[in-house]
Amino acid sequence: MPLTQLREITAASRLDNVRYPIRDLACLADEVALKGHKILPLNIGDPITFDFATPSHLIDAVHKAMRDGKNGYAPSSGIKLALEAIRREAARKGITMVQDVFVTTGVSESVEICLSALVNPGENVLTPSPDYPLYSAVLAKLGIGLNTYDLNEQDGWQPELDDIKAKITPRTRAIVLINPNNPTGSVCSHGMLEQIADLARQHNLVIFADEIYDKLILDDDQHVAMAAVAPDVPVVTFGGLSKNYLAPGWRIGWGIVSGDAAAVKPYVEGIGRLLRSRLCANHPEQYAIPAALDGPQDHLTEVIRKMRSRRDLTVKWCNSTPRVSCVSPRGAFYAYPSIDIPEGDDVFVRELLMQKYVLVVHGSGFGQKPGTKHFRIVFLPDEQILTKAYGAIADFIKERYA
Ligand code: PLP
Repeated sequence: MPLTQLREITAASRLDNVRYPIRDLACLADEVALKGHKILPLNIGDPITFDFATPSHLIDAVHKAMRDGKNGYAPSSGIKLALEAIRREAARKGITMVQDVFVTTGVSESVEICLSALVNPGENVLTPSPDYPLYSAVLAKLGIGLNTYDLNEQDGWQPELDDIKAKITPRTRAIVLINPNNPTGSVCSHGMLEQIADLARQHNLVIFADEIYDKLILDDDQHVAMAAVAPDVPVVTFGGLSKNYLAPGWRIGWGIVSGDAAAVKPYVEGIGRLLRSRLCANHPEQYAIPAALDGPQDHLTEVIRKMRSRRDLTVKWCNSTPRVSCVSPRGAFYAYPSIDIPEGDDVFVRELLMQKYVLVVHGSGFGQKPGTKHFRIVFLPDEQILTKAYGAIADFIKERYA
């Protein structure tokens, strides 16, 4: 057979801006681990990797569903029992004008479907900086340029309202609000939610309220849902089982569309078309949704107790270590310390991994104000691992930047 010189199969150029630094770094960590080093992983927000376990009543519900033969395709929007449970949860959170509810393969798929159903080429979506990189990756895939607004470190990482105002254009369709926030751990104030809702009203924007961490509030205040503050405004609230219910591998998330019925009708129809085109979310796992939302919430007491203690240890270490300082996280399990070093935070993170085997994620992977440098810590590991990791980071800083 004649051998033909095959040409390289190039990937689509719209992928040039698709990055996911959290997982991209894992490849380098694998190489370090292959050399026999034990990595201290402070990089991925998966509680199951540490001393947390999926509540057993959720596992029982999925097991029963599988045994009962719920192993075929599910309805595209999700099974009735799950949709009803999500509506009850929305009501408990004060979300009233619910126009649609759907179940997806994690919040990740909800985000992808909801952005794809909304934005045309040439339009834009406001995303926070720093940002959970899923949003910029999906927008890059859709060929939509980035339009970021700053979170203000001096104001506890609250959104910078003036920056949002300055960035809204006639072609802006939506604003993303991650609350509690990844990567900063900030929780949005009630006043800020109201002001963002006012801007959405004035400019006819959809608000994507990513509230996947809404039950992981570390201080004594309650989480306030954006959709409860702005019942009339088109809001898609994202939630799921990955974080609050410690089941990230099941890939179960959902979206709740609320707001004025007539205003959101065509958008809801668009979302429905995309939901049908991908068949359905995982079927048996959907039976865990009513078990989770309506069942015992006891696991949360223990989860929050552990996270508070690990947050406190983290903040104490940050603020007593030369060149590091940190706004105290108030929700979720991330800290985003600023670091004063004479080189890029990507170099810092890479060298820290190779020399001390501690894995964190560089701030430039999430976005940050020019001139500032950060790294993201996931403080899910127990106190012993955290203490070891923080000791190693402190030694690294002392040795490298003395
Ligand atoms: N949204 C935020 C803010 C996240 O931090 C994550 C995961 O870390 C996701 C969405 C993705 O969630 P899921 O596992 O439901 O796809």
